[in-house]
Amino acid sequence: MKMLEDTSRAWVLVHLDALRHNVEEVRRLLPEKTNLIVVVKANMYGLGAVRCVKEFQKMGIDFFAVSSIDEALQLRENGIYDDILILGYTPPVHFHYLIEYDLIQTLLSYEYAVELDAYAKTQNAYVRCNAKADTGMGRVGVRCVENDYHIEELIKMYQLANLKVEGMFSHFSVSDEVEDEKQILYTNQQIKQFEQVEQDLRNAGIDPGYLHLQNSLGIINYPQLCYDFARPGIILCGVSSDENMPMRQQIDLWPVLELKANVSRVKEVPAHASISYGRNFETDKPSRIATVSIGYADGYSRNLNGLARVLIHGEYAPVVGNICMDQCMIDVTHIPDVKEGDVVTLVGKDGDRALSLDEMSHHLKTINNATLCLFSARLPRIYVK
Ligand SMILES: *Cc1c(COP(=O)(O)O)cnc(C)c1O
Repeated sequence: MKMLEDTSRAWVLVHLDALRHNVEEVRRLLPEKTNLIVVVKANMYGLGAVRCVKEFQKMGIDFFAVSSIDEALQLRENGIYDDILILGYTPPVHFHYLIEYDLIQTLLSYEYAVELDAYAKTQNAYVRCNAKADTGMGRVGVRCVENDYHIEELIKMYQLANLKVEGMFSHFSVSDEVEDEKQILYTNQQIKQFEQVEQDLRNAGIDPGYLHLQNSLGIINYPQLCYDFARPGIILCGVSSDENMPMRQQIDLWPVLELKANVSRVKEVPAHASISYGRNFETDKPSRIATVSIGYADGYSRNLNGLARVLIHGEYAPVVGNICMDQCMIDVTHIPDVKEGDVVTLVGKDGDRALSLDEMSHHLKTINNATLCLFSARLPRIYVK
């Protein structure tokens, strides 16, 4: 498919000034010695990883994290030669890319480290790695929780001859919680375990290398931590996972993304006109209905049926009838002069009014992180300064 860099149908606007502002805000909250490993996985939460990385580079950021080898190669192939940490699993058939492209692989388990080391030996090469300690997330890494503490596996990892374990990290599971005492205790326990791991490695004569622990909400809610790096993702997009979650520190976030589409047709219909598939909506009076050129194939989910509203001419208008694959309909009876080619805002600002990503996430019963990942590759990303 040819990707036109234009606004002919539906598109995502990415505000680079907001992205830069959010980086400054995160830096303001962190201690001076703490640098950023910016997490640009999932195409930088749908904003477009390559373009965003180039913006981050201008701000002096030179370390990025992605989820997979494919994402890492996409950055390399676009001329990005900074440090890249792969957070997830790289299958053995792709181990050679780690060496060829000078990537940093997370060691997901001791067995995985042994396998990678054996491969590196056959190539007479060294692979750059970060050790991962599972301090309570229960996902990947060497188990390092109370009663299930395998420091010996981490120690042996560092001793593998063909792995250069240059850093060590862990990941929070409830750093967003600041009211539920049990959850706060859990995060504090994760921090304690992480410190224990560091200490035990040093006691065994091992330099753990650089350390990092905090994700976005870890930065906001646990600012006393002072590691070499922090790993923000979602807050750089100018939203937190859920705007109703209280936070321990004030942060002034500017939303980076807007979602827009064009009106393709406007029609006057009488009362009792049925709109869209399934006939779930019928006009109760003579109405003006506009068709908008965006649908669920763009990530404008069918789960928004009957719930969503948009902005047009600075006014709210409800989405009526089922959202289709490429189109949806809105009721603009109360808004004069709507015509073909008018711009509809599905997320973002129009005049004095705004539609937040949170509102969409609320309808979808999910978090903003997941909503951002819905906006599909068919939508051109348009970058505005
Ligand atoms: C996704 C991810 C992050 C970033 O998380 P946010 O909550 O988006 O800031 C950091 N570290 C790891 C290991 C991750 O998987």
